[in-house]
Amino acid sequence: MYSQRLENLPPYLFARIDAMKARKRKEGVDIIDLGVGDPDLPTPAHIVEAIVRAVKEPKNHHYPAYEGMAAYRKAVAEWYGKRFSVSLDADREVLALMGSKDGIAHIPEAFVNPGDYVLVPDPGYPVYKTSTLFAEGKTHLMPLTAENNFLPVLDDIPRDVLKKAKLFFFNYPNNPTAAIAPKAFFEEVVDFARDNDLVVVHDNAYSEITFDGYKAPSFLEIDGAKEVGVEMHSLSKTYNMTGWRIGMAVGNPEILAGLGRVKSNVDSGVFDAVQEAGVAALTGSQQCVADACAVYQERRDVLVKGLNDLGFDVRAPKATFYVWMPVEDCMKTAAQFLNEAGIVVTPGVGFGESGDGYVRFAITRSVERIEEALERIRRIAP
Ligand SMILES: *Cc1c(COP(=O)(O)O)cnc(C)c1O
Repeated sequence: MYSQRLENLPPYLFARIDAMKARKRKEGVDIIDLGVGDPDLPTPAHIVEAIVRAVKEPKNHHYPAYEGMAAYRKAVAEWYGKRFSVSLDADREVLALMGSKDGIAHIPEAFVNPGDYVLVPDPGYPVYKTSTLFAEGKTHLMPLTAENNFLPVLDDIPRDVLKKAKLFFFNYPNNPTAAIAPKAFFEEVVDFARDNDLVVVHDNAYSEITFDGYKAPSFLEIDGAKEVGVEMHSLSKTYNMTGWRIGMAVGNPEILAGLGRVKSNVDSGVFDAVQEAGVAALTGSQQCVADACAVYQERRDVLVKGLNDLGFDVRAPKATFYVWMPVEDCMKTAAQFLNEAGIVVTPGVGFGESGDGYVRFAITRSVERIEEALERIRRIAP
């Protein structure tokens, strides 16, 4: 019944975990869900108030401009200027997205011919792989290993793959490993893309979720980056707006025009009232972001210390709301945590082969729940 394209999709491990979780809940187990990469904190009030105002305006009830409202694109450009000292032309170098997933899911259609290669980090956000498959491209997986600080080794990519490679996806601060990348690596990517004629897509969804004074860069801060690539960004994680579906693609205008052409044939833009709320988020006080980071940082400290005290070997990440923990057998650990302790974590293999040997904790639950989870793990620890 289904197309080859659908049949070719890898089995969706997360759907299976959801089913197991639902079964446990039905049995009455008090599940502590540290699986989901979705903030538990509410969207800040001033952003909610902005959409309430905007939704009452009849002018916002029509089809939006597919590239985004001028005011939203201007707010994005100004935010990039303030936050990263990156200057963007709001008309040509900013495209509104329904979350960064929208950009990631559609960009291969604009650049990949059947059989072309797309370079994809492994483990990684699953959409890089599936969007490549939908465009009938081939993925070349770049392993992210602890030995190389979870950065891909560009020299390991075979020549014959590079010759047919079109797109390069990467993502720092990284989901699921929580690794960060030094600017030197971003520079290496710019040179590599130039030498090999690649379109670079940097996924910067977690740039604002950082700790211990660390500030994550934008790919576009690097000299020459705008000649080779774009950055996908999002309000989802920064302002607890995952349900609102708003983000942006920024950078090289020709690349953005390609993505825009695909999207103009697929969707009809982001609801203007949501974009007005986006303007409020980007131009308003950023104290809410600092407050959220302080919440995550406390949770991170409690979880990391607790796990290390229990004999696991975990390092405190500088960014993202994930903790990436090495284990012997990730499926076994995840199943044991769920069945014996009612705790959901994500087995690393769900993000790709090289994620095997890790589980991912999302610190999107309160300190009290994290402490309860640690206590339950202590009780089942061998
Ligand atoms: C959450 C996430 C996204 C997508 O978020 P949107 O809600 O679509 O903006 C993209 N990339 C990574 C790595 C993510 O974790």
